[in-house]
Amino acid sequence: MNQQSHERAPALHADGSLRHLLTLEGLPRALLERLLERAQHYSRPLGTPPARSQALQGITVATLFTEPSTRTRVSFELAAQRLGADVASIEMQLSSRLKGESMLDTIRTLESLHVDVFVLRDAQTDVPDLVARNVAAHVSVLSGGAGNYAHPTQGLLDTLTILQHKGRIAGLSIAIVGDVRHSRVARSAWHAFATLGATDIRLVAPPALMPNEQEFGGCARFHRLEDGIAGCDVVMMLRIQKERMTEAAIPGAAEYFAEWGLTPQRLAAARPDAIVMHPQPMNRGIEIASQVADGPQSVIRDQVRNGVAVRMAVLEAVIAGRSSPALSTGKDAADWRQRGPRP
Ligand code: ASP
Repeated sequence: MNQQSHERAPALHADGSLRHLLTLEGLPRALLERLLERAQHYSRPLGTPPARSQALQGITVATLFTEPSTRTRVSFELAAQRLGADVASIEMQLSSRLKGESMLDTIRTLESLHVDVFVLRDAQTDVPDLVARNVAAHVSVLSGGAGNYAHPTQGLLDTLTILQHKGRIAGLSIAIVGDVRHSRVARSAWHAFATLGATDIRLVAPPALMPNEQEFGGCARFHRLEDGIAGCDVVMMLRIQKERMTEAAIPGAAEYFAEWGLTPQRLAAARPDAIVMHPQPMNRGIEIASQVADGPQSVIRDQVRNGVAVRMAVLEAVIAGRSSPALSTGKDAADWRQRGPRP
């Protein structure tokens, strides 16, 4: 959208509270830990009523997704509703964007309708950042996934799921398996794991799906599934991202499964108590066998459940952050109280 080089939108307010969540890269460890603690507070076992609060009463959250989504969008919307917010769900394909309205015009329209938090998903990596650099001071932007760049709430929910099953991140062996090259999920998870002290993070992928050497510093790289997951505590599978492949020559589904599909036999190379994760949607019979996806080591349903808790924690954090002293004494806060039109 905007190819010029520029300062990225600041993630934090001056007092260190969360303003926008566009990536997990560079966020302080203490902030990640606080978000995860709050998410754990909101997490509930299946079969029990979901957590609720009024932390977002009077707040309006809009979701604008220009790429398909099931879990992320629904869980952001449920999270906002369970915190007492009003929710506007904008179908970009059907909206004015089709009529040529630019994303920023749409955002300004929605700001006039008192939207306080935008949740954006786009195939272009810099769209959430562009929006974050242009919203009013009281407005926050949360990425629901941008290109192959970042999917920060997915990274947090993956981390929370591991913490619930393993009690820690530091000291674990974590294998990220499959289409790492095109995966925003892998990038955000890696940032969270590394910040929280993991030192044995392995990328396990065929050469065509391995990211460039300049990325994922400190991760070991493996080109054979059994070698990469040997002795691992966590096996994090990724979806083959056909929609993001322009160059990669990958074999057909049957050949891929024969070499790279996670079957019960192959999973035996990991620790017996290893957990298996997948962000979904799954290509069953391509990157993962149904016996594993639905098997005793799978925590895939916990990941989905944790998605709501994590998004409640993030929404709560950005709304709490905007009433922080650093903001409410500044000029920006005056703009916010007046709710006047942007200059
Ligand atoms: N749902 C995740 C994402 O939006 C994972 C995937 O699509 O493979 O990135």
